[in-house]
Amino acid sequence: RAKQQGKNQFQLYAPEMNEAALDQLVLTNDLHHALRRHELVLYYQPQVDLQTGQIVGLEALVRWQHPERGLLSPGQFIPLAEETGQIHAISQWVLHTACTHNYAWQQAGLPPVRVAVNLSAQQFQNHDLPRLIQRTLLETGLPPQHLEVEITETIAIANPEKAIAILQQLRQMGVQTALDDFGTGYSSLSILQQFPLHQLKIDRAFIRHLAPGTKEAALVRAIVNLGHGLGLTLVAEGVETVEQQTFLQAIGCNAMQGYLFSQPVSAAAIPDLLQATLARTSSTKAWNLN
Ligand code: C2E
Ligand code: MG
Ligand code: MG
Ligand code: MG
Repeated sequence: RAKQQGKNQFQLYAPEMNEAALDQLVLTNDLHHALRRHELVLYYQPQVDLQTGQIVGLEALVRWQHPERGLLSPGQFIPLAEETGQIHAISQWVLHTACTHNYAWQQAGLPPVRVAVNLSAQQFQNHDLPRLIQRTLLETGLPPQHLEVEITETIAIANPEKAIAILQQLRQMGVQTALDDFGTGYSSLSILQQFPLHQLKIDRAFIRHLAPGTKEAALVRAIVNLGHGLGLTLVAEGVETVEQQTFLQAIGCNAMQGYLFSQPVSAAAIPDLLQATLARTSSTKAWNLN
């Protein structure tokens, strides 16, 4: 196709460059305009208290409404944005938008919830991160305790001193901190001991095959006890079945997040979800799935 562009045209790609690489190049270029064209959207997935059935948190998950390709998931563009440095602008947009939405829901009189945002490795290289978050909270009016940041183990261990310093500053500001995808990294235990955290999110890999008597059951039970022993709350990720929910309730896991309760939904769908759990919890003590 480059041939057809004529002699004087700058050749965008070498002939040996494969379709996939070309595709990524085009997508990178599109991503440059995505923010300006308001093509990024935040979806939210509820975290539900396993004792009360109440929504206690909402995780913000970014999507890209691409004009030709449809709704793209973060896996399709976040790695790209990290390579090109576009992740900084995207992350700031995510943070600002999530805080703005949560402030608006609270102003509307909906039950207060935490909103959780995922931090990327590159944001954690930035010493200014706590100040950036502070400024965003002031601009949007959201109280700090209603914001949670999620970091993965991989991010935490890439530069532990810096990560600990940043998390400590966030804690002092009153922002909540969660360790995402717990159990998939390589130094889980030392991280728990050293890092100032409020919450652990048990990775979906452990939840997927969760059933009484399985090795996963033993592991998840141990993680919950360990977390509680360290004063942390526990969220199970990727809960898809009633059996998983029942087991997690029985071992005292605090909250669940997954398709069983809700897929990630658009911001417009959140007020109804918050109202619905409020109505449900005032009429029945335990959340009943049926
Ligand atoms: P994560 O933070 O671990 O988010 C959970 C992912 O699991 C989400 O995928 C969610 O849709 C999916 N999930 C939730 N419940 C279930 C379930 O019951 N079953 C299954 N099969 N999947 C479930 P999503 O939205 O595609 O996000 C993937 C990853 O992209 C996230 O993993 C997070 O690491 C990253 N990400 C998302 N939004 C952002 C963002 O704004 N900034 C950054 N830096 N990363 C983000
Ligand atoms: Mg997350
Ligand atoms: Mg996760
Ligand atoms: Mg994950």
